[in-house]
Amino acid sequence: MKKITVLGSTGSIGVNTLDVVSRHPDKYTVKALTANTNVESLLVQCIKHKPEYAVMVDGDAAEKLEQALKNNAPDVTVLSGVDGLVKVAELDEVDYVMAAIVGAAGLLPTLAAAKKGKRVLLANKEALVMSGKLFMDTVEQNNAELLPIDSEHNAIFQCMPNDFGKDIEQQGVKKILLTASGGPFRTTAIEQLSMMTPEQACAHPNWVMGRKISVDSATMMNKGLEIIEACWLFHVQADFIQVVIHPQSVIHSMVQYNDGSVLAQLGNPDMRTPIAYGLAWPERIDAGVERLDLFDIAQLDFVEPDEKRFPCLRLAREAMQQGGTSSAILNAANEIAVNEFLNTRIRFTDIDRVIETVLENVTQHDASTLEIILDDDKLAREYAIHAVKDLAA
Ligand code: NAD
Ligand code: MG
Repeated sequence: MKKITVLGSTGSIGVNTLDVVSRHPDKYTVKALTANTNVESLLVQCIKHKPEYAVMVDGDAAEKLEQALKNNAPDVTVLSGVDGLVKVAELDEVDYVMAAIVGAAGLLPTLAAAKKGKRVLLANKEALVMSGKLFMDTVEQNNAELLPIDSEHNAIFQCMPNDFGKDIEQQGVKKILLTASGGPFRTTAIEQLSMMTPEQACAHPNWVMGRKISVDSATMMNKGLEIIEACWLFHVQADFIQVVIHPQSVIHSMVQYNDGSVLAQLGNPDMRTPIAYGLAWPERIDAGVERLDLFDIAQLDFVEPDEKRFPCLRLAREAMQQGGTSSAILNAANEIAVNEFLNTRIRFTDIDRVIETVLENVTQHDASTLEIILDDDKLAREYAIHAVKDLAA
């Protein structure tokens, strides 16, 4: 029986994780659930899954949850704050930690899980984008198992040679083909992009996801973050990765080999597939996912991305090539810009402008310690807020 902590259990990935877990009560049990502020959802999940711990980051929300649980599930211990998140990621009894908090807020508990040598199921790509080398070193030094849940990276992982090492070129790999749907604005006239609303940006054609990653998909910063994520996970440089727009989202990514073979992983766009793969690896379990019907799909298309339409792709690639804390700065600026866009304080096309200004003005450093990374994250957020004010003026 594997004991699991689900960080960010009330989000899109968290809910899908609990769906897969509840299909296999003989294999998995939920030890801890966490959420930011959503008391109602966490309450329902606690009653259903009976974890030992529930964490609400927000103190008031934690008190409300504790009151509500008294009548329904009095055995659940309620914790609060980032300390609570770190504690449930580190618990000795926990085997697997699903890292499904959105954004930089997930970094500390995810890193804590790696330090304790857990199997880390990584959905929270921002954590790896921010702390790349530090995170990978922590995984290696503590014999943690890192399994990518992001659908593309999960696909790449499935198409890699068995026990791939740090030099995948030596194992015959020539290129990673990272697929992208192109998001909701793939064919929108470029001059109309500045008028796009948060609702339009969040209406993804193929995937149902949280609002932040949905906007990232619309700007294609999501793919930019995924290039950086793939560089760290598979020990390659940014130019080893080719982005391929594939609007149907049936192929989740591919690996090209030196003998001419290209291996792909296909499936319906349903995150329960990579989640089940991460949970059961190296075995496979039922994920509740509908069987892929190729006759129904009939056609698969591939297009080269246009960096004029999607400047965030270029910004992410440049940040990765720059190295150090540049990708943490990029990520922080993006989080602020997306939030300002979702709150209708800036236009859709201001998102990449804010990020570019921040990258030009905040000095990057060697990303050797967590403190340095968090300092530059903070500076980038401050500068981004300043850049947003300048846009409004
Ligand atoms: P979501 O917004 O639906 O859920 C986010 C979860 O994080 C919630 O449980 C929320 O309570 C928690 N949270 C938010 N802010 C927090 C904070 N400050 N401190 C602690 N917890 C906080 O997001 P999602 O779509 O489930 O995405 C989660 C992560 O997985 C993201 O990093 C995203 O990029 C990645 N991801 C998601 C998908 C998807 O299909 N949704 C696919 C690939 C990768
Ligand atoms: Mg993805």
